[in-house]
Amino acid sequence: MIKFEPCPTTWFDGKYMPLAKAHVPIITHAIHYGTSVFEGIRAYWNGDNLNVFRLEDHVARLFKSAQFYSMNVRHTQSEITKAIVGICAKNKLRKSCYIRPFCFVGNFGINLEITHRAPIHTAMYVFPAKRLYDTNGITVGVSSWRKFSDSSISHMAKAGGNYLNAIIATQEAHRNGYDEALMLDSRGLVSEAPGENVFIVRNGRLLTPTLASSPLEGLTRNCIMRIASESGIQTQEIDIARSELYVADEIFLTGTAAEITPVTSIDGKSIGAGSPGPITKSMMQAYNSVVMDKDGRYADWLTPVY
Ligand code: PMP
Repeated sequence: MIKFEPCPTTWFDGKYMPLAKAHVPIITHAIHYGTSVFEGIRAYWNGDNLNVFRLEDHVARLFKSAQFYSMNVRHTQSEITKAIVGICAKNKLRKSCYIRPFCFVGNFGINLEITHRAPIHTAMYVFPAKRLYDTNGITVGVSSWRKFSDSSISHMAKAGGNYLNAIIATQEAHRNGYDEALMLDSRGLVSEAPGENVFIVRNGRLLTPTLASSPLEGLTRNCIMRIASESGIQTQEIDIARSELYVADEIFLTGTAAEITPVTSIDGKSIGAGSPGPITKSMMQAYNSVVMDKDGRYADWLTPVY
């Protein structure tokens, strides 16, 4: 688990304010119905500067998620982008951190029809964050809970309410002694982990489920697809059967919080010839170079704070 010590300065509806003053009333709609959208963003301290990773893409996804539910965010993307950089600077952060911007429905009674008139609040906080999982890898169990299907709720919008599905899968995985869950989609094909996308390596090819298996369209997933294909590894979005997990040469998870995390076993069965395998290792190294600003080809993914 990431150590959680939020920094004292937050941002709430356009103003920087102390964390202790950033409160909401109990009638807040989002508390009752999960009507919030959010992002998790990392900023990396590389000794010279703090660089926010894929800032504009995260803000764009936040607005797309809000738009999906007709939430009328009262700020522009550029205001939110500036506030994210601003909150890091205001807290004088000189270490790697995790930033959580979110938008939520405020006092809208018990009304289930969110319209453009619904009061949407936007806030963010930041906390110093190290690695989430061991670089040597984690154990994973296939969940008996399926990833919700696009025919019931959208996987394209990163909404608060979606995460109840992630929570029951995580509870089950931990109860069964695994570090993390992996969910199948409604058809029984591989979807994703509760907070990470999944990649498998088979015969030198890197495979990840298509969006039809209802994973979040992760930004780290996108990074790995680009980095891998630019380094000559064939990468494909494809349907993945559950059994392919057990015979995979390598498996890893990707996400802002989890970065690139090798999977050592699935349901107690070891993966490949010892984890992390060569492609996983090379993706971990490449990703680390990118976020630490050591690879000029991806410099446009970084926004300096200072
Ligand atoms: N899937 C889910 C359900 C997630 O919550 C996350 C984390 N945002 C991811 C995948 C990975 O997405 P990203 O790489 O954009 O952090």
